[in-house]
Amino acid sequence: METIRHYINGELRTSREDAWLDNFEPATGQVYGRIADAGRAELEDAVAAAEAAFPAWRRTPGPERGRWLYRLAELVERDLEKLAAAESRDTGKPISVARSLDIPRAAANLRFFAGAAGHFASESHLMEDGAINWTLREPHGVVGCISPWNLPLYLFTWKIAPALAAGNCVIGKPSEVTPVTACHLAELCIEAGLPQGVLNILHGRGAGIGAELVAHPKVRAISFTGGTATGAEIARSAAPMFKKLSLELGGKNPNIVFDDCDFDKALEGSLKAAFANQGQICLCGSRLLVQRGIYDRFRDAFVERARELQPGDPMEEATRQGAVVSAAHHEKVLSCIQRAREEGGEILCGGEAVQPKGRCARGWFIAPTVIEGLPRDCHTVREEIFGPVVTLAPFEDEAEALTIANEVDYGLAASLWTADISRAHRMSRELETGLVWVNTWMLRDLRVPMGGMKHSGVGREGGFEAMRFFTEAKNVCIRFEENEG
Ligand code: NAD
Repeated sequence: METIRHYINGELRTSREDAWLDNFEPATGQVYGRIADAGRAELEDAVAAAEAAFPAWRRTPGPERGRWLYRLAELVERDLEKLAAAESRDTGKPISVARSLDIPRAAANLRFFAGAAGHFASESHLMEDGAINWTLREPHGVVGCISPWNLPLYLFTWKIAPALAAGNCVIGKPSEVTPVTACHLAELCIEAGLPQGVLNILHGRGAGIGAELVAHPKVRAISFTGGTATGAEIARSAAPMFKKLSLELGGKNPNIVFDDCDFDKALEGSLKAAFANQGQICLCGSRLLVQRGIYDRFRDAFVERARELQPGDPMEEATRQGAVVSAAHHEKVLSCIQRAREEGGEILCGGEAVQPKGRCARGWFIAPTVIEGLPRDCHTVREEIFGPVVTLAPFEDEAEALTIANEVDYGLAASLWTADISRAHRMSRELETGLVWVNTWMLRDLRVPMGGMKHSGVGREGGFEAMRFFTEAKNVCIRFEENEG
């Protein structure tokens, strides 16, 4: 049994209350580990450790802070195989995905913000009548970073790296559904000799230690990635204390295929957008909109390819579709599919749980599912499902594609597939999303602003946006005398 412990003041520890949660392997449905469930005492210890570490950490020059992050990136890369196997087992995602996406990206996050720690600079504004303003950017102090289960180490490092690079001390709270790689990261921090208290990691329930972390008066800022309902709860709790908040929330992203597209590339990209990581990526293109002229041909080809994506044991190299993350999520996705039937949808493929043979027979697998014929205002089309389920609908022209794309509450990402560059520009301006991809999907440059509008969140991560979030701007205005002579 793997034991997941907290990382507080440079040490791995269990909870004083002896409270534990079970950790499940999604591919088998079996418990394979236990997770220490943090309480108030662990939070107070972590806050005290972070507060004690802060004065020295904030005074450490940026490039020096960056060196710690470079060191961690190297250790993550050294342990790539071990971490990828752990991530695959903990989430149910194919080992090939963990090895090529999750863990390399975690190392890239650490390395990217290691660089940012040395490159971050602030503005100055000269006033012609004899004054200069310059902007001091100070770290907040103790900050909280709360991450979800879909890309565990990838999204955890995406938050803690800029927070640390900017000079804050951090209390991280990974998802209780997938805690393992964050615990391995804590071991790597110990091996690297990261100063104690600079990073602390608390495990446990969202409604328990997650909510306590948000409410703690000494935690000055919260960076959160997760569901929209949780984001709203966090905002309610943090707003009266005027905490700085970054909220990266859900999506129901349109993937818009025009009839002048490169058909094969659009097909390949749309399949990836729909079913990568079992559809459990906030950026997944879960609403597939196809222009009338190629609709039937595209639908038939898409469904044929989706049928080939049979879920299997995530640990096998050839597997391209793994399990969904938990029993509760399995049940939720299946109930969404059932509701789609009730709302008039026709299931073109998938639509049911799958039981692979052998050790995975009791795992939480769902066949990639394509649904057509739903009314535009139904729950299935408007609400996030976050599983291997895509809805398919035709549109006539650019105007109609835009109307459909924008008529949901979410506004995270959109993909366009077209050969018409002017149309790509026009659509990009009108789409109500924080990200637009043209003839691609999930091509990520870590420098760009990443985040959503409407119910998909508040604020942006990535590049200097993240460094700005994790600092407070203070303008210093200095008057000087002009030389009369
Ligand atoms: P979730 O909201 O249930 O949990 C996310 C994290 O918040 C977990 O660590 C959880 O323990 C914690 N949490 C739960 N309740 C809390 C509370 N009341 N106070 C403080 N913390 C709390 O989300 P999830 O199910 O883990 O992740 C899936 C969701 O995340 C999807 O909606 C997906 O779209 C979203 N997501 C968004 C992005 C993005 O960048 N916008 C990226 C990945 C995932």
